[in-house]
Amino acid sequence: MVIPWGRPGLDGVLLKHACLVSAVIVPFGLVLAKLRERAKAYQLELLARAEEPEPVPVPVPAGHDSATRAHGPRIVILGGGISGLSAAFLLKARQPDAHVTILEASSRLGGNMHTHALQLPDKDGSAHHIELGPRSLRTTTPAAKAALQMMLALGLGDKLTFAERTTRGRRYVYNFDRRGLLELPSSFLAFLKFAFEYNLPLCLARDVAHFGASLWAALCNRSNHTARVRALNDMTVDSFFRTHFSDRIAAELGSALVRGIFSGSSTNLLLKHAFPSLWQLVAAYDSVVVGALLNPFLHLSDHFALQPELHIPTAGVDPTTASELLARARRERVASVQGGLSTIIDTLADRLRAQGVVIRTNVVAHALLSSMDNPNQAAVLCASAHEPAGPWEQLDATDIIATLPPPALASLIEQTLELDTQPSSQAPRPTRTLPDGFEPAFTAPRLAWRARGAATALRRMPSLSLATVTLVYQNQSFGNLVHRADAQPGFGMLIPEGGLGHPKPTLGVVYDSLVFPELAGRQHTVLTCMFGGADPAAQARVTGMPSSELADVAQQEVNRLLGVKAVPSLCVPTLWRDAIPQFTKAYDRARAQVEEDFLGPHLPWLQITGKAFGTGVGVNDCIYSAMRTAEQTLARWHDRAAHA
Ligand SMILES: Cc1cc2nc3c(=O)[nH]c(=O)nc-3n(C[C@H](O)[C@H](O)[C@H](O)COP(=O)(O)OP(=O)(O)OC[C@H]3O[C@@H](n4cnc5c(N)ncnc54)[C@H](O)[C@@H]3O)c2cc1C
Repeated sequence: MVIPWGRPGLDGVLLKHACLVSAVIVPFGLVLAKLRERAKAYQLELLARAEEPEPVPVPVPAGHDSATRAHGPRIVILGGGISGLSAAFLLKARQPDAHVTILEASSRLGGNMHTHALQLPDKDGSAHHIELGPRSLRTTTPAAKAALQMMLALGLGDKLTFAERTTRGRRYVYNFDRRGLLELPSSFLAFLKFAFEYNLPLCLARDVAHFGASLWAALCNRSNHTARVRALNDMTVDSFFRTHFSDRIAAELGSALVRGIFSGSSTNLLLKHAFPSLWQLVAAYDSVVVGALLNPFLHLSDHFALQPELHIPTAGVDPTTASELLARARRERVASVQGGLSTIIDTLADRLRAQGVVIRTNVVAHALLSSMDNPNQAAVLCASAHEPAGPWEQLDATDIIATLPPPALASLIEQTLELDTQPSSQAPRPTRTLPDGFEPAFTAPRLAWRARGAATALRRMPSLSLATVTLVYQNQSFGNLVHRADAQPGFGMLIPEGGLGHPKPTLGVVYDSLVFPELAGRQHTVLTCMFGGADPAAQARVTGMPSSELADVAQQEVNRLLGVKAVPSLCVPTLWRDAIPQFTKAYDRARAQVEEDFLGPHLPWLQITGKAFGTGVGVNDCIYSAMRTAEQTLARWHDRAAHA
């Protein structure tokens, strides 16, 4: 058919417009259909790898007389960090008759979360705080919603404090060529400077070209499905920045971001774990630029969401206030709590104690036992942290939730495998014998073999140590303190890997008092220098430096990087050993071995969560993952009780 473009009259005009509209809409519709179809196909395979299948809660039949059901679950949680406490919070919120005990090896609850009260009160006498561990919560991630809802339920809504708008988005990276700091784009001016420096238009075109190429392959049915799934799963942060933007952006920006958040190397960390929202856009559109433009309308990245929504009971909280606060938190992006993040830990612990949860500090979980008669009954053997070789205590449990870091979980499994199984009458130390009716968990030959494999895998899970040195300059403003012209107020500065040609493992400096001025006190400037890195030499240096040397190196570094010449009034060095799990390919393999070969159907009463086994290392991710694990634990318990 020949389209009569030149024919006058209404018919011709209508036909011409119809042709034009369909010429645009039909291919666009085809493209969308293709994108959707592809997203769904990949989603099944990718998510099957990312998520453990969730047990379906089975309703308990009326009149069911199982002893376990009648008394509610008896759950022991190992570890009193934010993960352990959040798991207990959800258990009590969903199942008030649950008997929950938390065991914490150290004398302090909170694990990595540790706020320190400053001994330098302001002129008005008010005391202030510094964070030794995490200092801020991101409020835009999917996990943040669950964490914020928990805080609302704890009555912490009024205590939420948001980062200063003028500084929160202003982050700087050290630029090797300029030997100075370059602002990451957070304003139009910063974007122009940045675009000029990194040749951004070309880089963005490269990213968009990925969309074109992959769409063309999809339309021609030439996509290699298996290869793409593998490439997406194995994509490191570095390879993403290199292939989508440029080598330089990868070496400077990608590397600096990964060092700032994970203290690790962008060449090892997988994009899907390190920056899941970026990965979702790449998975759905093959381009972050196209994804950012189309996703608000198409929502294709939702197909790759690794965090299904969790509904947290917020009884007693006005729904309008709650939704306003959640919306505000999203807008503000970065938050903390008055009195520091340990306020969350203290409030949680108080609430849990009031609900009957037993929280025991200085108690180390030593080994796991299982009942010889009842496959659904387990126990934890624990000992006092003050007397590790002293008598064991047994805590019976229907379920155990371990929130321990991988090395601690590996020790627990190894100690269980090494338990002396002698009957009490022949044991040399009668206080350290196994209770009647229980045996070390994993005694079955095949299970022992799997447990040994899991312990080895846990020991191989990469995690890095880092050191922080917080420097407090009393009665000094940032402007008076910092003498380098390019060191402007902001959130902080990051140093990419291999930079500066010196062996100091400096990751960057956070300008704490500019982000949350009311925490540290407006009259002081607080800077935190971070040390770490994936390089074995850097790790050896960080873990080997005595505190006094760390403090000296931190002062030299803030002088060199920011031009700070003043001597701090207070200097607090903290070493965090094996604190940050590294989400690498080796990590993925080890985690699969632990979760699929060891846990799952073999040990229905044991669940693991925490920073190394959830959706991420951030506090919000730990809260979210722990609550999901608690939910699954209850579902499993109901399921078992119903079939008992
Ligand atoms: C320096 C630093 C800065 C950070 N900054 C941020 C940030 O700004 N924002 C953010 O969101 N996240 C940040 N993080 C990450 C976040 O703080 C952690 O991932 C999170 O707090 C981990 O919580 P968790 O409960 O899973 O583990 P942990 O806090 O490690 O708690 C595990 C607990 O288990 C206990 N335990 C170990 N073995 C045993 C045993 N055998 N028996 C009983 N108990 C045992 C330990 O004593 C510990 O208390 C930072 C982390 C560090 C180290």
